[in-house]
Amino acid sequence: MSSELNLILLGPPGAGKGTQAERLTDDFNLPYISTGEILRAAARDQTELGTLAKSYMDRGELVPDAVITAVILEALNSADARDGFLLDGFPRTLPQADALALGLEASERRLTAVILIEVPDEEVERRLSGRRVSVKTGRVYHVDFDPPKHEGRCDVDGSRLIQRDDDRPETIAKRLAVYHAETEPLADYYEERGLLRRFDGTRAPTEVHDHIRATIATLRLEDEL
Ligand code: ADP
Ligand code: ADP
Repeated sequence: MSSELNLILLGPPGAGKGTQAERLTDDFNLPYISTGEILRAAARDQTELGTLAKSYMDRGELVPDAVITAVILEALNSADARDGFLLDGFPRTLPQADALALGLEASERRLTAVILIEVPDEEVERRLSGRRVSVKTGRVYHVDFDPPKHEGRCDVDGSRLIQRDDDRPETIAKRLAVYHAETEPLADYYEERGLLRRFDGTRAPTEVHDHIRATIATLRLEDEL
């Protein structure tokens, strides 16, 4: 019945999921649900969830499935996400994918597509080691590939740019290993369900964006026919 867009962004850390999400949420007017942003905000606010999550995040490990699944299912049922969503960072394991499928089924919703952004490990290392983020606006930069107009300051409001605690070389290697072991199997999982769409994430951000946007627009048209 519905032409709501329920989308998942999948890919290794540093693939450009956040970068693309910023553009896609604008294009399609979708609420953006990023597990990383939710967990980092909780950690800054030192909530119970945040304090627990931070100990895993700083080691490059995944937060336990039950913890993150509860947070995300609640977010998906909020008024904000009722007409569609762009989910970034969830699911990251097969049990999370199963829990999401059950949760959506319970509210008679289904996924529109899973957007996999593919980037090789060496490129991930270059991207994450140069990533800088505004704590205030959440806008993401790269010291070489997408530098801000003024060094160390966000273009939007001049707020300070920081390096994430987990964007350090040892943690990056650990996160990549966790991605390959726990998250990569989701590509097959969604392929088998006919939902997977693959994109070459090594292209320039505007090019990746054009490809993804065109694919989503086509999916939506097909859905409306
Ligand atoms: P993710 O959300 O998948 O972890 P980000 O969107 O935060 O990835 O991007 C990781 C880093 O790579 C950032 O510093 C960003 O500026 C940079 N980046 C994103 N997309 C590209 C691209 N297509 N080419 C080069 N650098 C990129
Ligand atoms: P990136 O932008 O590099 O892809 P995220 O910001 O999505 O990384 O996630 C940062 C950290 O938050 C992860 O390394 C992990 O510790 C935790 N995290 C985020 N999403 C999940 C999830 N679905 N399951 C378990 N842990 C998660």
